[in-house]
Amino acid sequence: MPSVKFETGRQFAIAMSAADPLAAYRDRFHIPKTPTGSDCVYLCGHSLGLQPKSTRAYIEQELQDWERLGVEGHFHARNPWMPYHEILAAPTARLVGALPSEVVVMNSLTVNLHLMMVSFYRPRPARHKIVIESSAFPSDQYAVQSQIVFHGYDPAESLIEIAPRPGETTIRTEDIEKLIAEKGDQIALILLSGVNYYTGQAFDCRRFTEAGHAQGCVVGFDMAHAAGNLQLHLHDWDVDFAVWCSYKYLNGGPGCVAGCFVHERQARNQDLPRFAGWWGHDKNNRFQMPSKFQPIAGAEGWQLSNPSILSMAALRASMEIFDEVTIASLRAKSETLTSYLEFLLAREACEKFSSLTPRDPSHRGAQLSLQIKKGGRAVCARLSQQGIICDWREPDILRVAPVPLYNSFLDVHTFADKFLSEIKA
Ligand SMILES: *Cc1c(COP(=O)(O)O)cnc(C)c1O
Repeated sequence: MPSVKFETGRQFAIAMSAADPLAAYRDRFHIPKTPTGSDCVYLCGHSLGLQPKSTRAYIEQELQDWERLGVEGHFHARNPWMPYHEILAAPTARLVGALPSEVVVMNSLTVNLHLMMVSFYRPRPARHKIVIESSAFPSDQYAVQSQIVFHGYDPAESLIEIAPRPGETTIRTEDIEKLIAEKGDQIALILLSGVNYYTGQAFDCRRFTEAGHAQGCVVGFDMAHAAGNLQLHLHDWDVDFAVWCSYKYLNGGPGCVAGCFVHERQARNQDLPRFAGWWGHDKNNRFQMPSKFQPIAGAEGWQLSNPSILSMAALRASMEIFDEVTIASLRAKSETLTSYLEFLLAREACEKFSSLTPRDPSHRGAQLSLQIKKGGRAVCARLSQQGIICDWREPDILRVAPVPLYNSFLDVHTFADKFLSEIKA
């Protein structure tokens, strides 16, 4: 959608919904219901995406094949389970801007992050540091700290946390670049988010990758809040590795199998150290059970175990929708939808809250993080009682995600109305 002149009235929201080329996709999802049976206003796709109506049939197919075939399903299921993960390679590659051989779905996010660090965090006395955001998701912080300790270093010395300047809420691009330029020769790994989960800030991945590489650093990204949200070009950006989960914007369902990207440059390097398992072994002789590990060239070579078919079936249902709608058109609607939310919240001067999220649409995804001066937790609870579902983060942040795939302009309007009246109450 080209830039639109927003209006505050409800009629405008109805007109925007009517003109929205993606409006029909909402119908492809189960929208949670209030106790009285009306649709919730679900603005929590950054935590758990909604269930596509097609998911059940995809899972049902695998249950039937298991029922019918038992172990033979590995080869004779309608979608044989042995190569099942391969079906997901092409749509996943399209989603994150990669070659199919550079991506694999496996494990869960934090597990994949550890596996990637086993291969790509190779500290030496002269270069042992990891750069992360000070407000990185706790699991990422635990993962990097434990990797540092595992290698015999001390997080107090090896971990560099980059923070916003005092009085500011997001990290300046130039501050990250300055850090890389000044300390690059001590930095082994730069690990940033595509989108910070707390503030909704989107980082310039291409720029930081280039800056890191110029200093000889490995550059990886946690795309948990970026996959299915932003247009990614992991291959062209020359990112070394990336990981993401598929239960947030990707709607794979709770605990769904996660994603992993290893750049072609790296993925064909069989000398990289890695934790190995049989599913990463050369497919040609995996079942001859040889004792020496020979990794598959590409991201698949990092697989450990035979994966959960039921979980991948759910992800297939979702990826089919992404392929149909395309991330480019989702992103176009997303920019408009989030800007519309921002516009509605700004219509009355209100000192009781402010947004932490960057105002420039190119520096954010489908999220506003509202910092509430007083009583925010109670506001969130009262909204929830009215069927408006967002996410509360201590101590004072309400994270609101208008997801372009299933949220409407009317959802955003309803939220803004109720939020403003609750906050003033
Ligand atoms: C959601 C999220 C996680 C969660 O990790 P799991 O391993 O899937 O439980 C970790 N890191 C980030 C940045 C996240 O947004």
